[in-house]
Amino acid sequence: MSAGESMSVSVLDGPGKLRLEERPVPTPGPGEVLVRITSVGVCGSDTHYFQEGRIGSFVVEAPLVLGHEASGRIEAAGSGVDPALVGQRVSLEPGIPQPYSKQTLAGHYNLDPDVRFFATPPVDGAFAEYVVHPAAFAHPVSGQLSDDAAALLEPLSVALAARAAGEVQLGDKVLIAGAGPIGLLVSAVCALAGADVTVTDVRAERLAAAARYGAAHTFTTADAPEPVPEYQVFIDATGAERAVLSGMQRLAPRGRCVLVGMGADTIALPVPLVQGRELRITGTFRYANTWPLAISIAEKGLVDLDGLVTSQHGLDDVGAALVAGAREGALKAVVHP
Ligand code: ZN
Repeated sequence: MSAGESMSVSVLDGPGKLRLEERPVPTPGPGEVLVRITSVGVCGSDTHYFQEGRIGSFVVEAPLVLGHEASGRIEAAGSGVDPALVGQRVSLEPGIPQPYSKQTLAGHYNLDPDVRFFATPPVDGAFAEYVVHPAAFAHPVSGQLSDDAAALLEPLSVALAARAAGEVQLGDKVLIAGAGPIGLLVSAVCALAGADVTVTDVRAERLAAAARYGAAHTFTTADAPEPVPEYQVFIDATGAERAVLSGMQRLAPRGRCVLVGMGADTIALPVPLVQGRELRITGTFRYANTWPLAISIAEKGLVDLDGLVTSQHGLDDVGAALVAGAREGALKAVVHP
């Protein structure tokens, strides 16, 4: 890469308004690398920004580049970075915290209020031919992982954080609501941890993939069994109030409820249930320190990340990629810039 070259970037101007723009290829600063992007997974949050122009308090005001589940190859190294890394394939961890913030120093760098995260206004994401990124957040992957799988270490990280928050252990009965990519990956990692996993979803066809991702049992909302307090852990990957309340009813005394899905801003809390069974409720906000484990289990073939990919798109086809997830049988769309 030489100075002055340009690259294509997919830019969102507002709800439903995408266009390709030519921008100069950025130059890596100290501690940074220039990465040629090879694959970017489409996430529900990207689709939400595309359709609504906002997620909660994050509003798309200036043109924004979406995409935060990215892999690529290092093309250039900034000062202080080992030049031998040029050519290395990497998976990009999208959230960059302030290095000396309280939460970073405490090991919860995902909770640093000033974290800069791909595709969250005003920070541009990875639907681009190149990005610059701190080398410390560009994790090397081996040839055992495809470009798509390296990108999908991001949702796998979400799943690992959910398992950790639920303290899922050998022999636990775990109920997971939502059989989209996140629910399936949560199922896979809980099964790897030795749990007996049940996955539920409103749509029967979405449950078809659950067995491939570790679920021993499934049921649809329509044919849900009578609620029995039998699960040690309930992990919600829907964000829907009905799913959360129904899952909590199935928690055994001292059960743990983990809220991962984003949807309802408020959910009515069944106080007698929470008190009477001493339930613990927690949320997760992305992840911290998950990439080494995600890479390890993916490289061992313990989770089928490629199996999630149901469509592949070019950078000129991001609009189609962003709505592909709604198609019947679709799980994950990926963009290859
Ligand atoms: Zn995501």
